[in-house]
Amino acid sequence: MSRLAVVFGGSRGIGRAVSRLLAVRGCRLAVVSRNEDAAQTTVASLYGDDHVAFTCDVFKEQEVQKTFESIQKMCGNISYLVNAAGINRDALLLRTKPEDMVALLHTNLLGSILTCKTALRSMLHTQGAAIVNIGSVVGLKGNAGQCVYSASKAGLEGFTRSLAKEVASRNIRVNLVAPGFIRTDMTAELKEDMIRSIPLGRFGEPEEVAQVVLFLLESSYITGQVLVVDGGLQLVM
Ligand code: NAP
Repeated sequence: MSRLAVVFGGSRGIGRAVSRLLAVRGCRLAVVSRNEDAAQTTVASLYGDDHVAFTCDVFKEQEVQKTFESIQKMCGNISYLVNAAGINRDALLLRTKPEDMVALLHTNLLGSILTCKTALRSMLHTQGAAIVNIGSVVGLKGNAGQCVYSASKAGLEGFTRSLAKEVASRNIRVNLVAPGFIRTDMTAELKEDMIRSIPLGRFGEPEEVAQVVLFLLESSYITGQVLVVDGGLQLVM
């Protein structure tokens, strides 16, 4: 029987690339995002035909609960959870609006904590279950203009390591992938001259992050780790 993989933020960017790779590996996908059309379009593009799209805002606790209930009912127990839902609201701290602080922390940090908490019960029933959270190199190194975003991602790193310790005895592994600049909607406004700051001399592609997510999901003896996928950016940050 195929493994069930739930990908939050699976409709676009890094999450969509992860969904595509997992589908090719024979997983059944539950693709989750706020925009129903985008999630449906991604599902329709996946290899295989028993994948399902779900609409859910990780900001909203009740929606998350209901989504996992529907996933369980329609698809069964969860083997893999990938938390790729995320937003950015870049601004200097003095100019950051309180509502943007709340949105960043709720979506990027509390949203992933909530999906992990809600998925765990189901994951206890599958062999070799694994979670990958998507952090950021900015959460490890900091970046001017991204104080709250980096706080959300640094929080996710601490959460990932702690949860890994909590659930290791149940053979559930939890890791974090920390990308640098990846070519997605989120970075559409980044200036090309930023490429000069990246040692490998280019932005990364979503598929290059997805390969690392897949590696961590399918590994068996790695947990509580942070894997950086940034073309060497953190070396010069
Ligand atoms: P993206 O292309 O903008 O995609 C973001 C995904 O998250 C979409 O599927 C979006 O779908 C979903 N999403 C956003 N808010 C959501 C919410 N409240 N509830 C449910 N789903 C939500 O971004 P990306 O570049 O792939 O980023 C994916 C993750 O990687 C994020 O956590 C981001 O912080 C992280 N990251 C990205 C980069 C980069 O350079 N791109 C670098 C480091 C880390 P809807 O809008 O339909 O909900």
